[in-house]
Amino acid sequence: MENGPPPPSRQREGGRPSLKRGEGDFRSVGQAGTSGRPLEVGEGTYLMDTQMFGESDFGGVYFIEDKRRTLIETGTSRVYGNVLEALDQLRVDHATVENVVVTHIHLDHAGGAGFLMDRFPKARLYVHERGLPHLASPQRLLESASRALGASFQDYGTLKPIPEERMVALKGGEVLDLGGRELEFVSTPGHARHHLAVLDRSSRAIFTGDAAGIYFPRDRRLIPTTPFPEFDLPDAVRAMETMARLNPRVLLYTHFGPRKDALRALRDQQVEYERWDRRARETRRAMGLEEAAAAVYDEWYADVEAFPRPFVERTIATNLRGFYRFYERTGADAA
Ligand SMILES: [Zn+2]
Repeated sequence: MENGPPPPSRQREGGRPSLKRGEGDFRSVGQAGTSGRPLEVGEGTYLMDTQMFGESDFGGVYFIEDKRRTLIETGTSRVYGNVLEALDQLRVDHATVENVVVTHIHLDHAGGAGFLMDRFPKARLYVHERGLPHLASPQRLLESASRALGASFQDYGTLKPIPEERMVALKGGEVLDLGGRELEFVSTPGHARHHLAVLDRSSRAIFTGDAAGIYFPRDRRLIPTTPFPEFDLPDAVRAMETMARLNPRVLLYTHFGPRKDALRALRDQQVEYERWDRRARETRRAMGLEEAAAAVYDEWYADVEAFPRPFVERTIATNLRGFYRFYERTGADAA
């Protein structure tokens, strides 16, 4: 027997209702949000709100309590302290974390990885083989992110190099055994070429990273995530079909939290991507980027309450730029 602390689910303090055991059920974040505390969203699966970009219920990191303790995603380097604090709240000894998985290497998913790996001496980091070299030597990735993000780059922080021998390169199809459950890596390019979704085979939950777009739980709204420079529309739609074929019971979005009607969410998001494609082709010809973001906000997202207008508009502008770049790269909008 190991002498580590008992599972956090038994140590939780009062005030938070327990999940019903044995049903493999999942809890939604709902109107109230996570209230800044780690939330057990499924048996042994905790959602930690990193408060990324100063917003609640936008940037998530998942912790899985199992024989081999596992973190999925890391948040940016600016918020890795919040991840450590959330582990403290769960009474998880940092040294006992064995696996860190990142769905892809964008800074809001993997930026904190190098800093967290310093605190997790036993851990190995799992990343797509195309992403691994950039986490070992981040300079080029940081330059590319700075070009892609412009003024908001500073909110994303930085990357700390991770020694290659502490990382495991994946292609998709591999299985990671946590002791009580198995995680399967699923190749899901589109948002980025090196994107992996992660299927929990026992609960049939999918950690979607950015492959299923973004979900605002408090508004129950879907919004694509289609960033410059690698976004590819047909690949992104195929990735959602790939995940649907796995027949998930719940999607665990990095942005943000669980959504239980998984197949419907995937189908609806595909419709969103197609609608955005049509609108992006129009705005690209008709107006500048900022004007286009404001127009799309007014048309489709003015009722969003969970996030302030400038924040949502920045997301919209990032998405439109990704579509425009996709058209340039593929000649998809050549008239
Ligand atoms: Zn991303």
